[in-house]
Amino acid sequence: MDWQEFGQWGRRVADWAQDYHLTVAERPVRAQTRPGEILNALPETPPEEPQDLIDVFADFERIVMPGITHWQHPRFFAYFPSNAAPPSVLAEFLVSAIAPQCMLWQTSPAATEMETRMMDWLRQAVGLPDGFAGVIQDSASTATLAAVLTMRERALGWNGNAEGLAGKAPLRVYASSEVHTSIDRAIWISGIGQENLVRIPIRGENRGMDPAALDAAIRADKAAGMVPVGVILCVGGTGTGATDPVAQVMELAERHGLYTHVDAAWAGSAMICPEFRDLWAGVEQADSVVLNPHKWLGVQFDCSAHFLRNPDELVRTLAISPEYLKTHGAEGIVNYSEWSIPLGRRFRALKIWFLIRAYGLEGLRARIRNHVAWSRALHDRVAAMPGFQIVTPPMWSLWTFRFAPEGAGDPDALNLALVNAINDDGRIYLTQTRVDGKLAIRFQVGQFDTTEADVMMAGDVIAEIAAGLRP
Ligand SMILES: *Cc1c(COP(=O)(O)O)cnc(C)c1O
Repeated sequence: MDWQEFGQWGRRVADWAQDYHLTVAERPVRAQTRPGEILNALPETPPEEPQDLIDVFADFERIVMPGITHWQHPRFFAYFPSNAAPPSVLAEFLVSAIAPQCMLWQTSPAATEMETRMMDWLRQAVGLPDGFAGVIQDSASTATLAAVLTMRERALGWNGNAEGLAGKAPLRVYASSEVHTSIDRAIWISGIGQENLVRIPIRGENRGMDPAALDAAIRADKAAGMVPVGVILCVGGTGTGATDPVAQVMELAERHGLYTHVDAAWAGSAMICPEFRDLWAGVEQADSVVLNPHKWLGVQFDCSAHFLRNPDELVRTLAISPEYLKTHGAEGIVNYSEWSIPLGRRFRALKIWFLIRAYGLEGLRARIRNHVAWSRALHDRVAAMPGFQIVTPPMWSLWTFRFAPEGAGDPDALNLALVNAINDDGRIYLTQTRVDGKLAIRFQVGQFDTTEADVMMAGDVIAEIAAGLRP
């Protein structure tokens, strides 16, 4: 294949994508394949001779599509959303054609300057104060790792990269029991060590860390000769939407001189609606904040926005500038590869530009507001269904429930059976979590094209399938 033929195939792909999105609701949400089915359908050895793209395309439909779980299905209520609004898909198509590598300003000035401007648009959109600077990371996990490395270096007088951690007093990082596993991995990779990730107990309906317990833990560690370095806060945790009391934790961290990183990977997108910001009030004191516009805002996966109060600390931690990467003669330029762990960087800002211009912030807010309202309406309905219990209340558009009819046996086994039966049915897709050790079923709304009818259909499906499992 050459570029002469590309246009014809590109038009075919565009038509395919449109048709896919217009009809995806007719497919089962979760892939209905068995492990190994796709692998076995793929030849064990690569072809020696060129094959016709017509055949490749046909095999894509025949082999690949049945093995896809449809994240763009309007009745995807599992995990958190991972969106692909059409203008951001177009931008991604353009980027894949240009394929620029955006490690330095000079390796793609437009990508760098677009990233600077888009991160500032997003900063304003979510209500972070002037002065925060943003960078696009490849994932929230990477942003959290970068923040943990920065808190480590700051506490070690910027000598940790050079000297390593051997022989030093233990560095201590604090987080609640509700934070995402990416926090554990950042602690492992940074060399701080799992034993030095201090879990602060949670309290109250928001399942946030107890500030008094945080204060006591920091004081005890200092008294024991250890070195507190930072706090990782959770705003909208993955299991139940757990949210720390941000302002109180910020105040304590400030008093003890600790670096603060806020993981708002999912809930951060909702902050474009001012009425949802009360749950992260105090965030303006944070050193570092991450949110994933691909999760709920609508940006095509992947896109993680990392905001920093003082980006110089991040650059001091991560920048290496060998001679061959220097941009000579240009003043005031930004080389974003000094802000991130990988050197090579994709041009991700273009899809934010297309998305925000195509819908305006008002169009994006309307969707998030609808998702929250519809999710709460379904919550009220499930709360009133006989045999159902609400386990955790709505945090933005996420809440959890349990099916516990009278006379039922082991509640964990019953709820696992329910969630599996729902996902085998295919009309909707849900996932489970554990709340205080017990199984609960999660429900969240956030797919870009979801309608109120889709959300209400989820209520019908849950009731119908649970009826078959009643004792
Ligand atoms: C999704 C999520 C993450 C992980 O995000 P990645 O971009 O996949 O690394 C981390 N924290 C929270 C709260 C999340 O919801």
